[in-house]
Amino acid sequence: MAYQTINPYTNELLKTYSNTTDAELEQALASGHQLYQQWRTATPSTRAATLHQLATLMRTEKHQLATVLTTEMGKLIGEAEAEVDLCADIADYFAAHGADLLAPTPLTTDAGKAYFAKQAVGILVMVEPWNFPYYQIMRVFAPNYMVGNPMILKHASNTPGSAAAFTDVVTRAGAPAGSLTNLFISYDQVSAAIADKRVAGVALTGSERGGAAVAQEAGANLKKSTMELGGNDAFIILDDADWDLVKEIAPQARLFNNGQVCSASKRFIVMADKYDDFLAYLKAEFAKVKPGDPLDPATTLAPMNSARAKQKLQKQVDAAIAAGAHVYAGNQPIDFPGQFFEPTILTDITKDNPAFDEEMFGPVAAVYKVNSEAEAIALANDSSYGLGSTVFSQDAKRADRVAQQLEAGMTTINRAWITAPELPFGGVKHSGYGRELCELGLNAFVNEHLILNA
Ligand code: NDP
Repeated sequence: MAYQTINPYTNELLKTYSNTTDAELEQALASGHQLYQQWRTATPSTRAATLHQLATLMRTEKHQLATVLTTEMGKLIGEAEAEVDLCADIADYFAAHGADLLAPTPLTTDAGKAYFAKQAVGILVMVEPWNFPYYQIMRVFAPNYMVGNPMILKHASNTPGSAAAFTDVVTRAGAPAGSLTNLFISYDQVSAAIADKRVAGVALTGSERGGAAVAQEAGANLKKSTMELGGNDAFIILDDADWDLVKEIAPQARLFNNGQVCSASKRFIVMADKYDDFLAYLKAEFAKVKPGDPLDPATTLAPMNSARAKQKLQKQVDAAIAAGAHVYAGNQPIDFPGQFFEPTILTDITKDNPAFDEEMFGPVAAVYKVNSEAEAIALANDSSYGLGSTVFSQDAKRADRVAQQLEAGMTTINRAWITAPELPFGGVKHSGYGRELCELGLNAFVNEHLILNA
């Protein structure tokens, strides 16, 4: 896999990166293992200051760090800056709460005086995608830095510059050598690292295909893993939904980060009375986007992250149409050299259409009409995925009842989907397993070590 920075707005190849050698991989493992030996006996609070400093540096250097993201994977500069802010918040959260959350837990037993300590387990391999190049790293890095697990990073082959920028700011914040080592490694080297006895686990965010391959390696080597994979999230509009709220939230629920979000709303499930109005509204909103240079704050439609991603999405849309889907809006070429994809609305997607159960990772909304609450729930759950979901109803009890019946790791009611350091992130079914962020993310890779004293 060639690691390259290609600006998806200009299509310019900006930089190529040499692959990590096996000797360099070995050096990273040795350095990580040495650090693990030191860290496992040090209290977590000694590491908090570095995370606070990391947050401060990220906020101070927000625009420069954001520019790296925009140049490399195309996201709007305002969204890139928001990603840097979110990362700083995550670092601060784990710095402030990590030590308390990792405190020993007393146990009540007749067997003696017992507690369990939460201890580091060793080096983690982190495999991350290009859609939120910093945030995806930070979700694993900040909690595990507090736990005391050193990390090896394999980032996406199209975001090597972002990986390098992140590790650089971590180093400048004072993190010791071996705590986070960015490597430009091949899939085979990822497998070799997972098999290495100094490595204790692997955290991956990405596709089902990549997740299944890496989870298989982890399983074969009896290493713990967390998998944060794709989603096909439902956005359910019940007949008593607050229409103004729906209108405020729906367009961005699909278009944020150019639709390249695992937990974006991808299937809009609308009760019959609102269906026509909703379609007309979404079409009008999608038509307002202004394609252009993502570094220009006036631009509202960014290019997709790569030519490959755009081609894949176009292929999916073409297949959906061939199988009977109706293009209600969009799907026309945009007259720019970059990797632009016009926001598109598909309707009439039947169960036998490949689009019914596929994740479309870009600005394409599928809109479905339903006649009852039960039908909405059944359709939402008729998916291989189970990451997020959103429910709109002015009846709080009803919305909660619907939310509880959804097969999803995360559901928001009457609000836009949100990620925050104190809220868990993760899914069920083919969306993966394990949780990142909050206390659950902190506990993902710890040894809950029972100490029992008679
Ligand atoms: P991938 O799963 O291919 O890439 C994610 C990361 O996994 C990258 O670092 C990739 O490396 C790595 N990877 C993939 N396969 C392996 C393997 N066998 N061994 C080791 N590392 C591996 O996703 P894509 O970038 O191809 O995106 C395709 C689809 O994935 C999207 O259309 C979307 O459906 C989903 N996706 C989901 C994301 C999410 O947030 N859940 C984020 C991004 C994508 P490399 O880049 O070198 O191939």
